[in-house]
Amino acid sequence: MSEFVGSYWQKGDEGFEDAAVGRVFNGRRPKAAERRPEAVLYAESDEDLKQAVRLAKANGWSLAMRSGGHSWAAWSVQNGTMLIDLSRLQDATYDEATGIASARPAIKGGEVLDPFLESHGRYFNGGHCPTVAIGGFLLQGGQGYCARGMGWAAEYVVAVDVLTAEGEIVRCDATQNQDLYWAARGAGPSFPGIVTRFHLQTQPRYKAPHESVQIFELDDFKAVMHWIYEVHNHLAPTVELVVVSACPLDENGKPGKRMLIVDALALVDSKEEAEAALAPMRTNPLLHKALVNVDCGVTSMAERKRQQVEANPEGMRYFVDNIWVEGETQNIVDGIAPLFTDLPEPRGFTIWFSMGPVRELPDMAFSMQSPGYVATYLVSEDESRDGENRAWLNAAMAGAQSVTVGQYLGDSDMTNRQVKFMADDNFARLQKIIADRDPENRFVRYLAKDSSTVNKNHWQI
Ligand SMILES: Cc1cc2nc3c(=O)[nH]c(=O)nc-3n(C[C@H](O)[C@H](O)[C@H](O)COP(=O)(O)OP(=O)(O)OC[C@H]3O[C@@H](n4cnc5c(N)ncnc54)[C@H](O)[C@@H]3O)c2cc1C
Repeated sequence: MSEFVGSYWQKGDEGFEDAAVGRVFNGRRPKAAERRPEAVLYAESDEDLKQAVRLAKANGWSLAMRSGGHSWAAWSVQNGTMLIDLSRLQDATYDEATGIASARPAIKGGEVLDPFLESHGRYFNGGHCPTVAIGGFLLQGGQGYCARGMGWAAEYVVAVDVLTAEGEIVRCDATQNQDLYWAARGAGPSFPGIVTRFHLQTQPRYKAPHESVQIFELDDFKAVMHWIYEVHNHLAPTVELVVVSACPLDENGKPGKRMLIVDALALVDSKEEAEAALAPMRTNPLLHKALVNVDCGVTSMAERKRQQVEANPEGMRYFVDNIWVEGETQNIVDGIAPLFTDLPEPRGFTIWFSMGPVRELPDMAFSMQSPGYVATYLVSEDESRDGENRAWLNAAMAGAQSVTVGQYLGDSDMTNRQVKFMADDNFARLQKIIADRDPENRFVRYLAKDSSTVNKNHWQI
């Protein structure tokens, strides 16, 4: 019955289950009784996508999209939908004259796009984990390497090609279909269309990445964080600064003792530039307590990607949550401390990611950020740990509410906890664009516990 070039399944067909959830990164997938699409299409052409819009309309289904499958909450898997998996569309081009790369949404930012651009001497600040696809990543903002200085990856999207509810593919940029261009940079999983291609402004590639790494006992968390909040606003824009609580793996791949790792990465062109950019890291008054102190050592993106894959193994059961924190340093440090010191899973980790000093954003849907981002990733193989991990993470996030101003869609799960992720005016404007562009709900909306309170902090309702 299918007129698709790609592969098509309906509920009950052999292979349907794997087609529906097999590409979901998080091993903690929604159960069949909870959430499944009515049909799944692995599209192989733009014509397939247009045909999918027609078929969905005929059947009264909404469309849910999947690019890389890395949504922690498996947003692509929803009831009453046709799931469009874009993984078989993989082409990318680069235009020397403009420095603009055009790429399909399911292309993996670090694993595929980055080496492609490197071969042209160019750079695009895609996600930290190399297997994240640019589709979901860019739509929600895109926290790439050095976001504090280089900005959100979505700021480098110069145009998108979008398949609309009317079944047409249209170019959206600063001069045409501006509403969709605005929405594509921040709407995340409520974008009213299928992005079929992103057009990205690339940058000259840094030539000499360096890092300063300081490792401390966990007991030093509060003192280290007080200094971090002093220093991070004074670092060069070329520096990414993170503080991570993790148990480094031993030679057998087993997590060792939990430590506090301060990691400053400078994406620069020379050793001299790196020395200057990382010099403030030497002002840490706790350096005498550091267990490890790498001062302006050479690093590479290949090593960074390896570390990311090691820290985020595919198929494990993840509970993830995140917060933008703001306030008095003392209150922030006290509020977030348990997220760093009390993690119940040896493979779990929490990061504090500097966005300070906060840069002004261009006019786009993405509009929520603060000087400090905190995200916790509980990682386990054991399903029987789910209940405890969920309860611990909810309680620890609740403990930080007094300093929480919102959260980032990328590490969110609104089926568990609803937190503000967009400025109120932007959210209202987005709802108007959605209503205008998709009056029949052809595309899914935010997957939330309570759709009437999306974009509100649950404790303030
Ligand atoms: C291991 C790991 C590391 C991560 N690291 C980072 C990081 O460094 N920085 C960061 O910002 N985020 C990070 N994330 C979060 C990640 O960026 C988001 O989960 C993102 O949504 C994943 O994109 P995807 O295309 O792979 O996921 P998918 O699950 O395929 O897509 C997520 C949702 O985006 C929408 N979508 C995707 N493609 C399209 C399209 N073409 N048209 C319309 N809608 C579409 C759909 O609603 C879809 O359900 C990480 C996630 C994981 C699992």
